Amino acid sequence: MSIRQLAKKAQELNDTYLNELIWREFYMMILAHNPQVVDAAFKPAYDQIPWRHDEADFEKWCQGQTGYPIVDAGMRELNATGYMHNRVRMIVASFLTKHLLIDWRWGEAYFAKKLLDFELSSNNGGWQWAAGTGTDAQPYFRVFNPSAQADKFDKEGAYIKKWVPEYGTSKYPKPMVEHKFARERAIQTYKEALG
Ligand SMILES: Cc1cc2nc3c(=O)[nH]c(=O)nc-3n(C[C@H](O)[C@H](O)[C@H](O)COP(=O)(O)OP(=O)(O)OC[C@H]3O[C@@H](n4cnc5c(N)ncnc54)[C@H](O)[C@@H]3O)c2cc1C
Repeated sequence: MSIRQLAKKAQELNDTYLNELIWREFYMMILAHNPQVVDAAFKPAYDQIPWRHDEADFEKWCQGQTGYPIVDAGMRELNATGYMHNRVRMIVASFLTKHLLIDWRWGEAYFAKKLLDFELSSNNGGWQWAAGTGTDAQPYFRVFNPSAQADKFDKEGAYIKKWVPEYGTSKYPKPMVEHKFARERAIQTYKEALG
């Protein structure tokens, strides 16, 4: 079905669905008018952030071994199926860019390799949104708390149980970085880089 047919149906039926379609169009428009976002931050000042190019930490994130169950569930779902729900995409992307201070382009490239619905403009827009380098008006000091996100969006723990069956046993890794420390490090690093 064409996007126009879908938008018309959405207007009749469901505002939330219409909003999601608007996000899709928005990021396509951003990419078309700002092709430099493929390689660079939409907000150029954010290219000054000194990312930690830590390959071992990146690998833990890729494999779903961070010790944060909602992050690990998302990454394991992605690796197994090529899909991840939008909320979890936001959580894992925030974790990589803020908690681990790893370049959003590494995460973007990993998603591009794994996602069956990979699409350059939405992927790039989603990653720059999470890293705070993009079109979003929110200040960079929004750092998702993965545990609070899990409590809110996976209340019964069903999603975590499905993808991280060893959670709660001695086989599950300890958090690779402490939340409070990581949050403060991210905010401080962004603050210094942006001057
Ligand atoms: C870090 C990150 C990376 C992403 N990478 C991609 C990607 O490579 N390809 C991709 O298609 N989407 C991407 N998205 C957007 C979104 O996660 C997916 O479109 C959505 O999860 C698809 O699920 P669905 O088909 O059930 O869509 P629904 O939730 O049913 O929404 C219907 C349609 O609306 C559009 N849509 C919904 N949410 C968004 C959104 N946040 N941004 C843009 N369009 C949206 C999509 O075309 C989607 O198929 C990304 C989001 C984030 C945060």
